[in-house]
Amino acid sequence: MAADTSPTIVWLRDDLRVADNPALNAAVERGGDVVVLDVLDDESDEVRPIGSASRWWLHHSLTALAADLDALGAGLTLRRGPAEKVVMAVVDEVGAGAVHWNRRYGKAREVDARLKTALKDRDIEAVSHAANLLFEPWTVQTGSGGPYGVFTPFWKACLARDEPRAPLEAPASIPGRAVEGDDLDSWELLPTAPDWAGGMRDEWTPGSTGGRERLEQLAEERLADYHRRDEPGFEVTSQLSPHLRFGEVSPYQVWHRLRDGLSGLAAKNHAKFLSELGWREFSYHLLFHNPDLATVNYRREFDAYPWNDPHDAGLARWQKGRTGIPIVDAGMRQLWHIGWMHNRVRMITASFLTKNLQIDWRVGEEWFWDTLVDADEASNAASWQWVAGSGADAAPYFRVFNPVLQAQKFDPRNEYVARWVPEEGTDDYPEPMVDLKESRQAALDGYEAVKAAK
Ligand code: FAD
Repeated sequence: MAADTSPTIVWLRDDLRVADNPALNAAVERGGDVVVLDVLDDESDEVRPIGSASRWWLHHSLTALAADLDALGAGLTLRRGPAEKVVMAVVDEVGAGAVHWNRRYGKAREVDARLKTALKDRDIEAVSHAANLLFEPWTVQTGSGGPYGVFTPFWKACLARDEPRAPLEAPASIPGRAVEGDDLDSWELLPTAPDWAGGMRDEWTPGSTGGRERLEQLAEERLADYHRRDEPGFEVTSQLSPHLRFGEVSPYQVWHRLRDGLSGLAAKNHAKFLSELGWREFSYHLLFHNPDLATVNYRREFDAYPWNDPHDAGLARWQKGRTGIPIVDAGMRQLWHIGWMHNRVRMITASFLTKNLQIDWRVGEEWFWDTLVDADEASNAASWQWVAGSGADAAPYFRVFNPVLQAQKFDPRNEYVARWVPEEGTDDYPEPMVDLKESRQAALDGYEAVKAAK
């Protein structure tokens, strides 16, 4: 029998890279032409439309990816619409014999499952690959066979397993097949009136090259200072989060880049850094087992929490960085300006919203979803629930962060606040919008309803 040389479609999603991309490599190995496809799906019920900052990132990431693919001989085909229909239409247009993709783990996997069935029904090969997590969520199980709800034993179980595989080299060349598609500009991902992306342009280089640079900077410089990762004024965290979110860098590449050759403090800090990647894995583990993580309390007794009306409680002041609490305002302005916020300050601002203002964590989650360049369906939802107290492995509820003490501890020289809130201490800066002690007590009172609902 003659070999099947029908074209293969590689449907890219959260894996916008040519190196360590198992779906792409498998398609090239299959032989025949390869159509590399990206779909803007803002119609399927199971796919959450990405936020404004992520749209900005996606535009530039796709531009970088198209250049990388061009260099290997393949183009990037862009299509807009419900993914199942779009992929099937391209299959028909080119007479594809196979479709390959790398897995996703939220609700959108229902789309993938339906498509897989539909393709197989037509005798078209449909293959999904593990690419974006180090440990597939369903393979990590407690002693009794269930999912983990606590981070430490989860990560211990992961580390006890075989080491994650080595990253794959990019294909030497790709026998690309040109297919008509959309012009990226027609997707209108970039802001126009007004163009609020100036701060983001200055801060980031979307795409794999920018991601690899961040990884090198981490390995060569930042990791040695990573024990100071909680200080927002001191830039020592990797800032890999948007690159990981869009799959421009894979966790396998990160793992193996840091595996050998570290010395001194960098070697000492290695395990701590890996455990942060572990939180990413844990968030996906939670999302996989709780697909509604962004909308439903993981601990259902929190359904009884008496949240305030967001507008009456001052949501707009929080969003704009005008709460009168300097560290909170600094964080919210950093977020608005560069689409990213330091982890410690994410915790402080989220705690202020959910506890001092008693605004539902889902309202904050949505704001972050719209404004973060690393907005991630697993990490954002899991982290917001963690801070609010409704999530997995959350800290005891009574440990309400005091943002003033947090600032004294983690920004002792006021560097971070001074950068983002230069008018602090002048008449232009507002008074605190709430009394921290009273609002903390109000949060604890609200928690009584949760305790009663248990
Ligand atoms: P590093 O310290 O260099 O960590 C390396 C990588 O590990 C990160 O790039 C990220 O992929 C992962 N990571 C680190 N900390 C966490 C964590 N706590 N949870 C999950 N993954 C982690 N992270 C996102 O990627 N997307 C989000 O939408 C997101 N929303 C958050 C919302 C709130 C309220 C909070 C408290 C945290 C959120 N985080 C989110 C987690 C964390 O703040 C960011 O991952 C981190 O600040 C990214 O900076 P970095 O790349 O320099 O981190």
